Amino acid sequence: MNGSNFDVIIIGGGLAGLVSSIDLAQRGISVLVIEKNNFPLHKVCGEYLSNEVRPYLKRLGFVPENLGAKKISRFMISSLDGTSSTCEMYMGGFSISRYLLDKELFSIALNSGVAIVTDTAVTNVSFVNGTQFEVNTANKNYYAKVVLGAYGKRSNLDKEIRSQFFYKRTNYVGVKCHFKGDHEDDLVSLHNFEGGYCGLSKIENGLLNISYLTTNNVVKRYRTIKELEQVHLSKNPHLHAVFKNAHSAFNKSLVISQINFGIKQTVEKHVLMVGDAAGMIHPLCGNGMAMAIHGAKICVEQVQQFLNENISRNEMEMHYSKNWDKQFKTRLTLGKYIEPLFGNKWTSNLALKPLKMLPGILPKLISLSHGEAIK
Ligand SMILES: Cc1cc2nc3c(=O)[nH]c(=O)nc-3n(C[C@H](O)[C@H](O)[C@H](O)COP(=O)(O)OP(=O)(O)OC[C@H]3O[C@@H](n4cnc5c(N)ncnc54)[C@H](O)[C@@H]3O)c2cc1C
Repeated sequence: MNGSNFDVIIIGGGLAGLVSSIDLAQRGISVLVIEKNNFPLHKVCGEYLSNEVRPYLKRLGFVPENLGAKKISRFMISSLDGTSSTCEMYMGGFSISRYLLDKELFSIALNSGVAIVTDTAVTNVSFVNGTQFEVNTANKNYYAKVVLGAYGKRSNLDKEIRSQFFYKRTNYVGVKCHFKGDHEDDLVSLHNFEGGYCGLSKIENGLLNISYLTTNNVVKRYRTIKELEQVHLSKNPHLHAVFKNAHSAFNKSLVISQINFGIKQTVEKHVLMVGDAAGMIHPLCGNGMAMAIHGAKICVEQVQQFLNENISRNEMEMHYSKNWDKQFKTRLTLGKYIEPLFGNKWTSNLALKPLKMLPGILPKLISLSHGEAIK
């Protein structure tokens, strides 16, 4: 062996990876996180986080208010023509940039005793001799009893672990940028435009997060992202009002493609998948980060049982998959069925009518797409 040994190795130091690592380390388990980028980093994300995970984050040492996160208590949705509906959120949440959130979690992980290697991509992972994993990077191999795949929505590793998923091409594109612009502090709003939808919320420093999901076909029609926003998105009167007065705080918007909402397995080749690597929900539910964090908790509980020799590897994998499905399957299905209503002139206008006439429906839909606060 030319590497180091750990109880657990986590591939990917995003939300799911960092939260799992902190929880494991605070339970006295030796853990290594391998992250291909450096911290901190801006990421394409709406940056609204549901209160579902607040108690759990607090237990791990993360308190959003200490970082100036904005408290969110209202939700607004608008159709292409600007018809809108607003409601109080039953649980609410907070808004914080991924840059600051990941930076803080990174620091809590280090203070909790997590070993972290950055700027290093995992190139392969194999389960050798039925008991341990070998995790390969360009310079070094590492060994562990358990490996968590927390490498996000899509990674070079999918080619090795689940090639069928990796080679499926998709048309989705995600864009995010921070702006100096107007929006109410306690509101998260979601606005339809032809071929996509756009989320807005204020974050810790008073900047406005604007992020949207659309398709390649829409993006290709415009020369620049700015033109796409000023001409295409701005056909929705709410987005027009925002983009007219907003000034970008980034040199360039972040753009990602190949976003795949296809079904994934929670365990592949004995690797326990967490976060987007386990399953990705449509961003319109505003729930992917909460799922990544809540999923980390469900996973860590089983890993601890296994390492304490209370359950077998097979039982750990089965319990994890079962608990994950129980917690998240309904939300994923709901997201899948609501998504086609978005980005289309007729369906989004049609869907907004009953929401306006029966104001109880919107909070119900939000509660169905979110979980209960973690006890
Ligand atoms: C447009 C858009 C808007 C969204 N808005 C919201 C929202 O408002 N609220 C919400 O809750 N969710 C939202 N989401 C979803 C949310 O961003 C994700 O669900 C969340 O980031 C998942 O966290 P993760 O830890 O699984 O992945 P990530 O945070 O992406 O972390 C994965 C990490 O793995 C690393 N990695 C990948 N491959 C390797 C490798 N081979 N070796 C080492 N490291 C590797 C990556 O560098 C990355 O740091 C949105 C998503 C999109 C696309």
